[in-house]
Amino acid sequence: MSDFARLQNILHKVSVILLVTLPLIGVLTAMALSWKRIFFPQDLVLLLVIHTIACMGITIGYHRMLTHQGFLAPVWLRFLFLACGAMAFEGTPAQWAATHIKHHAHSDEEGDPHSPLEGFWHAHIGWLFARTNFPEVRAYAPYLLQDPVIVFVSRTTFLWMGLSLLIPFLLGGWTGFVWAGLVRVFCTTHITWSVNSVCHTFGTREFETTDASRNHWLIGLLAYGEGWRNNHHAFPRNAFHGMRWWQLDLSGMLIRFCEGLGLITQVQRVTPEAADAQRVRALHSSGKIDLLRMQLQHSAEAAQAEIERIFQTSIATVEDSSLHARMQEYLERLAEIRRSVSSPLHVKRPRLESYAQQIQTLLEQARAMAQQAATVCR
Ligand SMILES: [Zn+2]
Ligand SMILES: [Zn+2]
Repeated sequence: MSDFARLQNILHKVSVILLVTLPLIGVLTAMALSWKRIFFPQDLVLLLVIHTIACMGITIGYHRMLTHQGFLAPVWLRFLFLACGAMAFEGTPAQWAATHIKHHAHSDEEGDPHSPLEGFWHAHIGWLFARTNFPEVRAYAPYLLQDPVIVFVSRTTFLWMGLSLLIPFLLGGWTGFVWAGLVRVFCTTHITWSVNSVCHTFGTREFETTDASRNHWLIGLLAYGEGWRNNHHAFPRNAFHGMRWWQLDLSGMLIRFCEGLGLITQVQRVTPEAADAQRVRALHSSGKIDLLRMQLQHSAEAAQAEIERIFQTSIATVEDSSLHARMQEYLERLAEIRRSVSSPLHVKRPRLESYAQQIQTLLEQARAMAQQAATVCR
């Protein structure tokens, strides 16, 4: 690694540490001030307003408009949505979109920048620390760099971030800065990160997708519609993530409002018939996956018993510690597979199928070892 790349890595890590810690310090300061009864309701109103502007900038601008092309908007409105998104402290629009495209391309498999299969903490914050999780925009989504609006907002992202801190200071003084600046960044970022962590771990699945995405009502509410993650992964271009009347999707409502005013066009939708057809397929498919899981549990259990028997009858008496260690390794691997199969995260058929193959291989290796031990004894 060159010195320049090393320096870039260090700078990246420092900026993530600041992004995680400074808003947290803001939250603690706000709590201390409130404890001393230094609290102004208008700061809370300011927080809600700026959070809503930044959060909608992400959900409508960065996500549904830019990344998934869920609708078309004139230049001034595109600029407005993206500049609002830049206030969320989640990076430039070009980088955000490239990272999210990568997430959809590799959801919950190798290459996904923030899959909870690598741990909940990794999906929430941990992934931010590795620069390798942020793809090169030029390589991943070069067309983004051909759009002058995206390029302009990407180059001036720091300006919008700064403005989102300066405005609360000008309107509310230091307490305004703490509440609507720092506490607001804390709320906006953690809510977005929860979409990656919570909505790929907890919640319900209505559609069969090749990832672990889930619908979670609380994140649906807090993240202005983005918590209906399974709906979104099933129909990525659909501009409306809430697909049932009770799935509140504030971003979708604003999109519908803008469409009604004639401000945006070609809004992508899924017909109720197409959604229903997909639901039926999902039911069918999830039944099959449950069966596959059950079969895997049985065969892993049987393989465990068989390997233990082989160990007792052929290996335990042989004085060769490497054979003992290898047997132990096989048993541990089988236990790991059983844990994995029963985990609610595992929905991917290819991964489950690869486990069946691994169980077979482990059994064959154990049998071969027993034969080897028998020849040593002779
Ligand atoms: Zn996702
Ligand atoms: Zn998406």
